[in-house]
Amino acid sequence: MATAWDYAPAPEARDIVRIQERYGLFIGGKFVEPLSGERYTTIDPAREEPLSEVAQANQADVDRAVKAARGAFDGTWSKLRPSERAKYLFRIARILQERAREFAVLESLNGGKPIRESRDVDVPLAAAHFFYYAGWADKLEYAFPNRRPRPIGVAAQIIPWNFPLLMLAWKIAPALAAGNTVVLKPAETTPLSALLFCDVLRQAELPPGVVNIITGDGRTGAEMVAHPGVDKIAFTGSTEVGKAIQRTLAGTGKRLTLELGGKAANIIFDDAPLDQAVEGIINGIYFNQGHVCCAGSRLLVQESIYEATIAKLKRRMRTLRVGDPLDKNTDVGAINSKQQLDKIAALVQSGVDEGAEIYQPPCKLPERGYWFVPTVFTNVAQSYRIAQEEIFGPVLSVLTFRTPDEAIEKANNTPYGLSAGVWTEKGSRILAMAQKLRAGVIWANTFNRFDPASPFGGYKESGFGREGGRHGLEAYVALDDA
Ligand code: NDP
Repeated sequence: MATAWDYAPAPEARDIVRIQERYGLFIGGKFVEPLSGERYTTIDPAREEPLSEVAQANQADVDRAVKAARGAFDGTWSKLRPSERAKYLFRIARILQERAREFAVLESLNGGKPIRESRDVDVPLAAAHFFYYAGWADKLEYAFPNRRPRPIGVAAQIIPWNFPLLMLAWKIAPALAAGNTVVLKPAETTPLSALLFCDVLRQAELPPGVVNIITGDGRTGAEMVAHPGVDKIAFTGSTEVGKAIQRTLAGTGKRLTLELGGKAANIIFDDAPLDQAVEGIINGIYFNQGHVCCAGSRLLVQESIYEATIAKLKRRMRTLRVGDPLDKNTDVGAINSKQQLDKIAALVQSGVDEGAEIYQPPCKLPERGYWFVPTVFTNVAQSYRIAQEEIFGPVLSVLTFRTPDEAIEKANNTPYGLSAGVWTEKGSRILAMAQKLRAGVIWANTFNRFDPASPFGGYKESGFGREGGRHGLEAYVALDDA
């Protein structure tokens, strides 16, 4: 008699999205041909199929976009009544909600993330950010009491491929609310939701040039950073590129915020509700294939509950469904690119070579596309690369501790400082740990929760500056004395 139940396929229809064969650059409120004359192909990483041809912006294209943003800043946007600015942001939020399914399908197609996550996390949170900052636009003097906030000017914003639409919202919403104009570049591999967002701007009748979206690879990003007409750079991505940007900007007076990598500790004490904690561990590392800067990639388990935790974790891992990102039952989708897949595979191999014990649940992967089986390493020493370096994939390293002090020492033993998680039933212990953990965000009895009202950002090599909340406005205002 059959005892195992399986899930029938439940694919989301993709015909709601109309992807154009080719896209130009969105500058001055309309799509224009790239002056570079160059284009590249963007693909669906789950099927390795081309989706569209997008422009590779060069220095002349960047210059055109910055000039459009400057024109809009001087001509309209910085002069607009703040309550008028708020109206546009509210409109954008409403339209994103109305077109949520379209954005969710496109985000999963171009990025490989499960539709369940793009539908329930990425798109609603992106809309929520626009709602949230719409509310601040005409209340800036309350955000900064006794100061006179004024916009900075043109912001160049460079975002990564792990949350393309959400990172766009994190960047554009506060910049616009504070009266700045924007040139934004999505990551090379995930340009399509940003290009669809241009249609939202058209629907919202945002004045031309307030938001300009240009596509291209790292060279385009470097041109944006170097452009003398830019007043502020906001970057999310790797620590390596973040350092290069900081070097370029030294002495220029341009403002900079950097949101870089992480190697977060997820700390489980022996009084934690274990089943709930195991869900938190799974969500902490396998959410979005582990392509999450604040992922709980180092699990610290108190020694007395080590065996039980690992047994429950492995059992739960065996239930994860890896496969078609557009299937509503999928838990773990495709790896975003071949390059990222190779990086994950190399780091996992280093873990095996250095002597850690690997576990991967039985898992049938699709034949085409980029995939990686959810992986956990036990027997990990702190010095191993898998315990030190950001893998940015579905790979967890487990370490143990005996006392709270040892947990703190191990958790802080990293060049990063973006996030951490603490699981315990004692409120006092949570507060004591939070005091000592060097991380910008600390979750208690949960993980990977985001809210537009809550600031997000790091210490040390995880960068500086905060996004979200009232703090997120600070990066986009100059403060004069009242
Ligand atoms: P990058 O830092 O290269 O990419 C982030 C963004 O910066 C992209 O839009 C990228 O463009 C752009 N960029 C690349 N080079 C430059 C440059 N010299 N000047 C200005 N902008 C530039 O990250 P990768 O995509 O290469 O990922 C590498 C690793 O970085 C990952 O494996 C992961 O560990 C980490 N990472 C961390 C993220 C985080 O949120 N903290 C996000 C993404 C990656 P393009 O995409 O076209 O190259």
